[in-house]
Amino acid sequence: MNDSTRKELTAWLEFYQELGIEGFCRRKPGDVALPLAVEAAQPTVVVPAEPAPAPVRMVASSAQATPITPIKPAATATPSRAVIPPPASAFNLFEAPPAAPTGPETLEQIRKDLGDCRRCKLAPTRKTIVFGDGNPHAELVFIGEGPGADEDEQGLPFVGRAGKLLNKMILMAGMKREDVYICNIVKCRPPGNRTPETDEIETCSPFLYRQIAAIKPRLICCLGAPAARTVLGIKEGITKVHGHFYNFGSIKAMPTVHPAYVLRNMREEKILIEDFEKIRDFLRGA
Ligand code: URA
Repeated sequence: MNDSTRKELTAWLEFYQELGIEGFCRRKPGDVALPLAVEAAQPTVVVPAEPAPAPVRMVASSAQATPITPIKPAATATPSRAVIPPPASAFNLFEAPPAAPTGPETLEQIRKDLGDCRRCKLAPTRKTIVFGDGNPHAELVFIGEGPGADEDEQGLPFVGRAGKLLNKMILMAGMKREDVYICNIVKCRPPGNRTPETDEIETCSPFLYRQIAAIKPRLICCLGAPAARTVLGIKEGITKVHGHFYNFGSIKAMPTVHPAYVLRNMREEKILIEDFEKIRDFLRGA
């Protein structure tokens, strides 16, 4: 260790001792602490919520939800333990100490921190970072898989065909797109719309958890299996677990089928309709 490194290290150690921190241990690669906001939101143990109260069916062709027949509440799903990956970056002795927390982060601060992100291998092929869109105080947050070609062009999530179907469902559930917040587990388009890979999700998802912590929604809706697996640690098929309510910290979370899957299998649209009825009833406190 040269003299200037030794001096810098000594100054840091004194700084920490003044703070009352005495013990230090070497960190293994990848063994990092979660930021407070992420820790607060992480689903360490996922416990199924009480079954949703008997919801009322709505009519697909109408923009306004129309109650007609009650449908059966969902059975309780088997909980699974979520694995929350560490955040992309971590503080170490040679970096400036983090600023004292002044309250919850805002979406603007998180976006600024993301910057012109080059943290994963999706960066070179993307056109635009698709951070997220909608009401920063939304009660409902949708999480998709990753931007497609249209989203990559426009910088907004769910603006292609799947987005049109999602907008229709949101309307049927008695809300407007501007009321909700929409984002993805990765913020850059995977080449050829392939499923995001583990390292890409691990690098990007800390930003997603910080977004959720900033918004503090009442309900998260995971669109498709990759979002359900990332956020809730669910390994079972989406057709098995859709429509069940889970806990994500103090926030409820419900997986449903991805609108793009429904576009390829229009007979499955009823799954989406029924799950959106449950979303509507949950948010109405029914
Ligand atoms: N599919 C997704 O999962 N996300 C989008 O933003 C668009 C399509």
